[in-house]
Amino acid sequence: MIRVEKLNKSFGELQVLKDIDLTVKESDVVVLIGASGSGKSTLLRCLNFLEMKNSGIITIEGEQIEESTHDLNKVRERVGMVFQHFNLFPHKTVIGNVIEAPTQVKGMKKEQAIKEGKEMLDKVGLGDKYNVYPSTLSGGQKQRVAIARALAMRPDVMLFDEPTSALDPELVGEVLSTIKELADEGMTMVVVTHEMGFAREVGDWVFYMHDGKIVEYGPPNELFDNPKEERTQAFLSSIL
Ligand code: ATP
Ligand code: MG
Repeated sequence: MIRVEKLNKSFGELQVLKDIDLTVKESDVVVLIGASGSGKSTLLRCLNFLEMKNSGIITIEGEQIEESTHDLNKVRERVGMVFQHFNLFPHKTVIGNVIEAPTQVKGMKKEQAIKEGKEMLDKVGLGDKYNVYPSTLSGGQKQRVAIARALAMRPDVMLFDEPTSALDPELVGEVLSTIKELADEGMTMVVVTHEMGFAREVGDWVFYMHDGKIVEYGPPNELFDNPKEERTQAFLSSIL
């Protein structure tokens, strides 16, 4: 579970997040939507402490996390992240990518990491690809490796930042179904996406961001079919 209260973040003079409140309960799938530049990625990066907030409270699994009192590397182990551009290590094989963090960061024995890594690759449907290099994979397969790599750390929560935006249209479905399977297994997650079909089907909550603020949120059917705020209506009619 994640709780965000009055989160503010600026880059120099530019305030990018403005008093963000957000709660992600255990096993919830929260979908973040909003125009380019509205602050979606920055919010995810603050949740993972890749960016440091200026003010506000971030609580993860009941623990209030502060830069000054917590080892942020340990926190990042609990919050997995998947990016738009897979960021795989090109000179490592698929299984090499998956075991990197468990062995280097968690100190897991290589044998054990390989065993668990293969389980994760099976889970994303790539059990037969563990020995190849990323350059030989399709974009959808690369992204599924990136998901397996994040899962290998056994995170409490997964963050996805436009995980299908860099993919050819015919590869989007396989990645979305992988994410949906994780959701069905009860993984807590926050997903930034433009895939409104996915948001409707898999999301428990949809949050609409504009200009650094949460304008409106609700269950997908309510937000999509009956948005209350004019801004949300305008955004939805521009994309749907
Ligand atoms: P997109 O849909 O294009 O990914 P987004 O909603 O994810 O957009 P962010 O990437 O969070 O938006 O950016 C929000 C604002 O913060 C933008 O105005 C962006 O230019 C600015 N910004 C983001 N990262 C930095 C940075 N490291 N330094 C300065 N400004 C930044
Ligand atoms: Mg972004």
